[in-house]
Amino acid sequence: MKLYNTLTRKKEEFIPLEPGKVKMYVCGPTVYNLIHIGNARPMIFFDTVRRYLEYKGYDVNYVSNFTDVDDKIINKAIEEGVSANEIAERYIEECKKDMAGMNVKPATVHPLATQEICGMLDMIGTLIEKGYAYDVDGTVYYRTRKFKDYGKLSKKNIDDLEAGARIAVAEQKEDPMDFVLWKPKKDGEPYWESPWSEGRPGWHIECSVMSKKYLGDEIDIHGGGEDLIFPHHENEIAQSEATSGKSFAKYWMHNAFLNIDNKKMSKSLGNFFTVRDISEKYDLQVLRFFMLSAHYRSPLNFSGDLMEAAKNGLDRIVTAAENLKHLVKSAGQGNMSEEEGKLIEEADSFIKKFEEAMDDDFNTADAVSALFELVKFANTHASSDHSEEFLQNLLDKIVKLSDILGLIVLKKEEILDEDIEALIQERQDARKSKNFARADEIRDQLADMGILLEDTREGVKWKRA
Ligand SMILES: [Zn+2]
Repeated sequence: MKLYNTLTRKKEEFIPLEPGKVKMYVCGPTVYNLIHIGNARPMIFFDTVRRYLEYKGYDVNYVSNFTDVDDKIINKAIEEGVSANEIAERYIEECKKDMAGMNVKPATVHPLATQEICGMLDMIGTLIEKGYAYDVDGTVYYRTRKFKDYGKLSKKNIDDLEAGARIAVAEQKEDPMDFVLWKPKKDGEPYWESPWSEGRPGWHIECSVMSKKYLGDEIDIHGGGEDLIFPHHENEIAQSEATSGKSFAKYWMHNAFLNIDNKKMSKSLGNFFTVRDISEKYDLQVLRFFMLSAHYRSPLNFSGDLMEAAKNGLDRIVTAAENLKHLVKSAGQGNMSEEEGKLIEEADSFIKKFEEAMDDDFNTADAVSALFELVKFANTHASSDHSEEFLQNLLDKIVKLSDILGLIVLKKEEILDEDIEALIQERQDARKSKNFARADEIRDQLADMGILLEDTREGVKWKRA
């Protein structure tokens, strides 16, 4: 499997630090408002990366933060006359609703900046000790000149950056490129005690701290939107690597921008959409499908026509799956014939094509094409002349590929008790034959349909969530 590493500007073979495990950190949103569709792109894309890695058998530890203390949150709180905490809590809840609508799985951990202040004080303390940071009247700055690799991710040269930068009058930093790790509170702002001042952290430090705490000093993949490459991710590298003396993230992945009708999305242009706005007109699965219809490193243009096309495309997959489901039910028992076996081999070629696309830097656009080819093939052969086993096999294939993309093509209530029992039996058989990947896949498939499994001494019990 290959992926494009922003750090080397090359497609590289993916080799995790530890076999079978992936440690992944993706920068989450600042929660001061409903998330917009630009926020949705990394959420959907990196969720798909995670799903595919899990499909490949990796145990993925996925951490994504919520920035819950920030100027924008504080301003909003002042505007509404409530606490910053109340604003953050409200929009974390709303964000989680949108994520569920887009079928973005909850991260293994969603840390909050305000809950990790201790770790930030520790790291800032270490940076000061090591000479990478300094305190001026309660403000702590990172000494960028001291970190010799500064600029390695964004390929920016510190001298060039400096030429364009100035120190604002109020600032007392040594160098224009130095950035804030800790700043004193202003009146009415939330604050924490620290050795330097009553104050709050700068933005960049939280990701370094949370990544270290939940994943360790070295991680496999760090992701986010391309707008985060500089300065945010560059600063994360400077903080993390100066603290640990180790290489922070092995692979850096960044998704490209989202434009609206070929223009940059902005409130002033009136082309600003929240995910909630979209949900009034479309199922958010359509938004997800739309986002995955382009390669993540290509800019994506959002328009009404393209959303309609995505809706039609998704409908085609759902209709094919429902049709097969219907046929399976009426087909009665029946094993596959030799001829049907050959057709299944043909259908397997679309799975292979799908995997090849995903293995090539998560080319979801080509993966979607392979899924469409499978759907077309299934439609051609979906008839009551075929055996149950054959029809079920085709259906499973469509569900499997859709699931990797995070698309729900069978409605939850359509899973019948007997189908659940059959899947559980298949999982037991898979475990017996030590096919744990398949067993896990079935468990996940059931979980996606809201079916929870519990292994007890009397056997497997299940319930609907
Ligand atoms: Zn971050």
